[in-house]
Amino acid sequence: MTDAASSIAIIIGAGHAGGELAIALRNEGWEGHILLLGEEAHLPYHRPPLSKAYLAGSVEKSSLSIRPQMAYDKANVEFFGGVRVLRIDRANKRLELADGKQLAYDKLAIATGGRPRPLSVPNAAAAERCANFHYLRTLDDVELIRAQMAAGKRLAIVGGGYIGLEVAAAAVAQGLQVTVLEALPRVLQRVTAAELSAYYERKHREAGVDIRTNVQVADLEVTGETVSAVICADGSRLETDLVVVGIGLIANTELAAEAGLEVDNGILVNEYAQTSDPDIHAAGDCTNHPNPLLGRRLRLESVPNALEQSRVAAAGMAGKLKAYASVPWFWSDQYELKLKMVGLSEGFERLVLRGEPQTDSFSAFYLKDGKVLAADTVNRPQDFIAAKRLVAEGIAVTAEQLADDSRPLKELLPAPAA
Ligand SMILES: Cc1cc2nc3c(=O)[nH]c(=O)nc-3n(C[C@H](O)[C@H](O)[C@H](O)COP(=O)(O)OP(=O)(O)OC[C@H]3O[C@@H](n4cnc5c(N)ncnc54)[C@H](O)[C@@H]3O)c2cc1C
Repeated sequence: MTDAASSIAIIIGAGHAGGELAIALRNEGWEGHILLLGEEAHLPYHRPPLSKAYLAGSVEKSSLSIRPQMAYDKANVEFFGGVRVLRIDRANKRLELADGKQLAYDKLAIATGGRPRPLSVPNAAAAERCANFHYLRTLDDVELIRAQMAAGKRLAIVGGGYIGLEVAAAAVAQGLQVTVLEALPRVLQRVTAAELSAYYERKHREAGVDIRTNVQVADLEVTGETVSAVICADGSRLETDLVVVGIGLIANTELAAEAGLEVDNGILVNEYAQTSDPDIHAAGDCTNHPNPLLGRRLRLESVPNALEQSRVAAAGMAGKLKAYASVPWFWSDQYELKLKMVGLSEGFERLVLRGEPQTDSFSAFYLKDGKVLAADTVNRPQDFIAAKRLVAEGIAVTAEQLADDSRPLKELLPAPAA
């Protein structure tokens, strides 16, 4: 049997989840080796700024690292960048790497995140070889996009979700001619109410972005080594200098599935972030986990989820059971608008607005059975703090109370138990 000091924990994936897990594992008292393996060359870095401040050029690359190398050294975490894990051999507790090496583990964590959903059109493969065609997931992706962004260039964005709209905001501010092509009738349709979509469409149009909804991209026109136009299903043709596609994410679950772990829209984990193999945990975008507050399973794509679930996984790997139970939350920055969302609005019965959208400071509450399922807050940090508790604690409220902007929302919150 391996003693504690020589036991080996390996974390596959050095994103938000993997990096946090490595440090948390040491903090939870793991005495043995901790190896953090990442396919990307970089130390774990903040992904959200890639479509926001970093794309806009308002923050430096050096500010993207979540922690400096020193922090990993101090925690005695060995980081290996540019390392792709090819296979998990559970029977022998070994990993096979793309360079042919093998690594033994005692405990394993999978934090492989996801990859952009590819555009499924006839010319997609040819377009992917073009220097002006991009998905946006990694720092390397955004470096290529930034290098091609110049005032006056025509940028076609496929997908009117958060990433597409954030890229639009950053690009139009830099003088590009931006068009967003969204297949659904409104932007952000999967995540917000019609009122919020209308608000964001208006803000983008006012900024000069051409937002086109109900537009299905049918193909890409490739001329030489360049995507020269986007062809839409209605026959229209949009000439372009640069294309960015943001149409969702595919969770990286293949390693887990091939190793025989249970996978169903994400690697299935329990509330302790443990997979169907007790020696393997998983955290972040790649997992499908139970949420006791919502009473169902979820696969989330958000930094708070990646961080919190990683800490739970680290505790479990160190032999301490901590259950994961948080309400999902997310944010998006576009122009001067700081949107923060909490909860999941699916199945809501009534939308209540607090404040006036015209003022660019308002909140929207999604109500069901006298309780707040979810809230979207725009430039309203205080509303967001209160909304988090309203959702998490299932506090009974009325639409009138929420809409009354003359009284702070915190008045609706019961005093925390002494
Ligand atoms: C442009 C952009 C903007 C975003 N904005 C926000 C936001 O505003 N707010 C928010 O909450 N969330 C945002 N997100 C989502 C957030 O970044 C993700 O939820 C978060 O990064 C998930 O962390 P993760 O560690 O699970 O996965 P990732 O960050 O994807 O990390 C997984 C890592 O695993 C590596 N990997 C995969 N397979 C292997 C393998 N076989 N071997 C070795 N390494 C492997 C990958 O290369 C990757 O580096 C944004 C995402 C993007 C792309």
